[in-house]
Amino acid sequence: MSENSHHKVLIIGSGPAGLTAALYAARANLKPMIFEGMQPGGQLTITTDVENYPGFPRGVLGPELMEMFREQAHRFGGISEYKNITKVDFASRPFNVWADDELYTGDAVIVAMGASAKLIGIPSEKEFMGYGVSACATCDGFFFRNQEVIVVGGGDTAMEEATFLTKFARKVTIVHRRDTLRASKIMQDKARRNPKIHFIWDSVVDEVLGKNENGKKLITGVRLKSVKTGEHHVLRTDGLFVGIGHQPNTEIFKGVLDMNSIGYIKTQAGSTRTNISGIFAAGDVADSVYRQAVTAAGTGCMAAIDAERFLEREHD
Ligand code: NAP
Repeated sequence: MSENSHHKVLIIGSGPAGLTAALYAARANLKPMIFEGMQPGGQLTITTDVENYPGFPRGVLGPELMEMFREQAHRFGGISEYKNITKVDFASRPFNVWADDELYTGDAVIVAMGASAKLIGIPSEKEFMGYGVSACATCDGFFFRNQEVIVVGGGDTAMEEATFLTKFARKVTIVHRRDTLRASKIMQDKARRNPKIHFIWDSVVDEVLGKNENGKKLITGVRLKSVKTGEHHVLRTDGLFVGIGHQPNTEIFKGVLDMNSIGYIKTQAGSTRTNISGIFAAGDVADSVYRQAVTAAGTGCMAAIDAERFLEREHD
């Protein structure tokens, strides 16, 4: 095995969790190797303005923020490989990870591959992502002050997003594909009681409508399809929030790391330790509740400190 493929710390993922873990591990002189994955910089690279990251009182663009994270991690010796980890073997140490056929080994591994918001899966939704289409009300709700928005979904996420959006929007319409909500009773009741929230049942969004004026994209409405009659109708809107859930990117750890039924990695309370000593999890792979850049960065820091202490103990 070439010397270059062995590192004290391997970090899988390059969002706020992975890059903060890299910063702290680099400053502990561990020369971490960061596997940046399919979407270097993570979920924030597909947003526009980030106004809730502390330290940026005038906001910052998501891609710009992540570039700063990366620069800071590299400044202290973090190394990025723009590769996607496709397979792992954590049965013995050093731990093995593969980017396709290429094997890398590490004395400790920080798993920070994040989660992806589930999307409806229509091309126009991607086209207007960040330009009226969002999958995060906490991140983007503020931009819809006094406007009308649509939330797609019938679970707790959709109810929570819709309720949160009523702080800003003048009208929130929940579009659900059935006539019964999946959400918990308490969250349903809260949404149903809110006078700003309206429901459209048995319908799906099958097209996002918008315009592109002088290179500036803007959503103008959606085309709804009734799943009962197949009929279409257009609903004007200023924003579309897709609230149909998140999927942690943990497929390659199935059967290896302990997870809950959805696929979120279980960590020991108050730490980033997983069921395997030397493997740590940070950010959205292990967080179905907060899912914020700042909380991901926080657990990334914890993972680097946990990894550093683990390596110190190993070599005592
Ligand atoms: P979920 O419970 O799986 O609900 C997803 C919803 O989106 C369902 O109503 C589903 O419709 C709909 N949906 C899925 N794919 C769709 C598609 N392609 N097009 C249109 N609609 C689609 O997911 P979740 O709401 O994210 O909740 C996940 C877990 O996190 C749950 O256990 C929930 O309780 C928890 N959670 C808790 C809180 C809280 O307590 N504050 C907040 C958020 C989430 P169907 O109903 O027809 O399947």
